[in-house]
Amino acid sequence: MILIYLVAFFLAASFVSFFNLFDDRRRRGENWVAGRSRCESCGRRIPWPYLIPVLGYIFCRGRCTCGEKISPYHPLSEGIGGALVVFLLHYLGMEKASVFPVAAVFLMYLLALEDSRHQDVFTGDLVVGGAFFVAALILDGSIYPLSGAFLFCLIGALYFLFPKAVGEGDIYYASILALGIGEIWRSYLFFTVTFVSAALIGGGLYFFKCLKQKAVPMFPFFLLGFLIVGIYL
Ligand SMILES: [Zn+2]
Repeated sequence: MILIYLVAFFLAASFVSFFNLFDDRRRRGENWVAGRSRCESCGRRIPWPYLIPVLGYIFCRGRCTCGEKISPYHPLSEGIGGALVVFLLHYLGMEKASVFPVAAVFLMYLLALEDSRHQDVFTGDLVVGGAFFVAALILDGSIYPLSGAFLFCLIGALYFLFPKAVGEGDIYYASILALGIGEIWRSYLFFTVTFVSAALIGGGLYFFKCLKQKAVPMFPFFLLGFLIVGIYL
């Protein structure tokens, strides 16, 4: 059991690592298949232990051989991705039927990472992740179009009132997640939990100067709100 969890953790963390690299490179217009990432300071390839998600970072104490710090974003995003998959497997049960929903939520997590890093998500990514998530809901027989429509109107109204606070992508991302939340009042709760946590955590990060930009990326908070309301309440 623990062995399967460990394998799932490292598999998911490796996927996150690959996705981060792929996303960076296509944005810079580079070939995203070949080669390891390079240190931003000395330009050499980053040390090989970094190929091992999370542990490599701890082993090398977060530095390149030239002494330059490597962003903790990488081990953090990998560790959270791995933990998310293990948690979902544990929650849904270790069955074949769990694989598709876990993968669907994991794809939504990758979208949240893309949003938190670039404040901009490719439409194609949103379509692929969203289609996968909707397919998982349909297969599970638990899709709630009314909740999705409700959130679509709610975030849509916010978008028109405060175009700087929420983006167009937020409307789609939130409504897709809401499709998985039964009953309208729970989807309203999802909305509330999301914005309260964004205000608390985003405000805190901004206060401690961890956030350079003023706009808080919303995708991670929508996902957090979905997990809290969809699973615990
Ligand atoms: Zn270096």
